[in-house]
Amino acid sequence: MAELTDARVRPQIETGRIWLSGFMMFVLRIPSLNALENQFRHSKLGRGANRDKMPSADTIGRGFSCMSMKPLRRMIISINKNCWRNKAIHQRPGQSHRVVALDGHETVASRSRCCNHCLVRELTIKGKNGKKRKVKEYYHRIVAAQWVGCKPAAIVDIEMVLPKEGEVVAAKRLVARILSDYPRLIDVITADAIYLEAPFIRMIVEAGKHVIVVMKQEARDLYKDAEGLRSVIKPRTFQDGARTSRIWDIPNLRSFTTLGRPVRVVWAEEKTLSKKVVPQSKPRQTTGNIIEATWVWVTTLGPSVPATKIQQWGHDRWDIENRGFNELVTHWHMDHCFVHNPVAMEALLLTLALAFLTTYLFYERNLKPQIRPATRLALASTFLCSVGMSLADSFRLFASPG
Ligand SMILES: [Zn+2]
Repeated sequence: MAELTDARVRPQIETGRIWLSGFMMFVLRIPSLNALENQFRHSKLGRGANRDKMPSADTIGRGFSCMSMKPLRRMIISINKNCWRNKAIHQRPGQSHRVVALDGHETVASRSRCCNHCLVRELTIKGKNGKKRKVKEYYHRIVAAQWVGCKPAAIVDIEMVLPKEGEVVAAKRLVARILSDYPRLIDVITADAIYLEAPFIRMIVEAGKHVIVVMKQEARDLYKDAEGLRSVIKPRTFQDGARTSRIWDIPNLRSFTTLGRPVRVVWAEEKTLSKKVVPQSKPRQTTGNIIEATWVWVTTLGPSVPATKIQQWGHDRWDIENRGFNELVTHWHMDHCFVHNPVAMEALLLTLALAFLTTYLFYERNLKPQIRPATRLALASTFLCSVGMSLADSFRLFASPG
């Protein structure tokens, strides 16, 4: 933390302490900077501690708004690397490839507040008089990279989408950065259908990594060719829990001409049996519902990787939806606009990523099962009750020389 810096002129409170406030706000799941200030400066929890050392909500906001990203990223990189080195992040049994999923997510939307990095869209809404009118909505969007198929699914890095640029452009900046930051900790990058474009894939392949990208565009030559070949190639059937898949593995397709190299297409027709309990049935009865889905993935991985693995990693991308963003939005206040400033948003999101990883590791690895709270959410309230005083002390300790 001592290496963190920001661009404030003659700051009274060092950046590390401001960052620690933001970090603890996430760890304790406090929903806003003002709530944090109330909790520790004005309440009983702050009593006994040197309150003057606790930054105010305004100071935390100002500090995060001009925080230098490089030292903050260096800290996150070193912690992520340490986790992998110490085997604190577990892959699925038998899995050697490290898979990173990319996805876009909208964080903040407002019709009244904006900044010079806001994205804008026009919406048609119904006014009070029933007439339709157009309003401008300002919002921010990020692209996040997250390791998937492992526990915990740590966030690698994030990148803000800038005004008037597409998500893929921001993703390219993100990929260039994570490939240079984590050259050995990324083997495969998996992404949604909008990423199926030659420059993006080429960039990853040239770095010696592989891609798995969803293909949806039925008008594409590659899609048509794969569909044509499906009639002459025999599918293989696999059973995985409630899901039955028929998989066609089609290698060496050359119709992705802009890419200039052959690709492999994995085409899966999946039938998943979902069971539901019939309401008010005695004895308890269940009904079965079969959900059908077709998935097509384009990959540069060779035949040494079985098609079922590609299917699994392709689906793992949904972790970012199901586990990553959902949890962060629902339980970690990720979409709350703490400070409407692009630098602060980015710095706070990176801080949140670190709070998510470290509390997960603390919960899973540092607490004996006998004293472990039922959930990580319960852990946060236990923290709030029992660590409050010592947290205030830690602010004081950090402020003292040495
Ligand atoms: Zn904005």
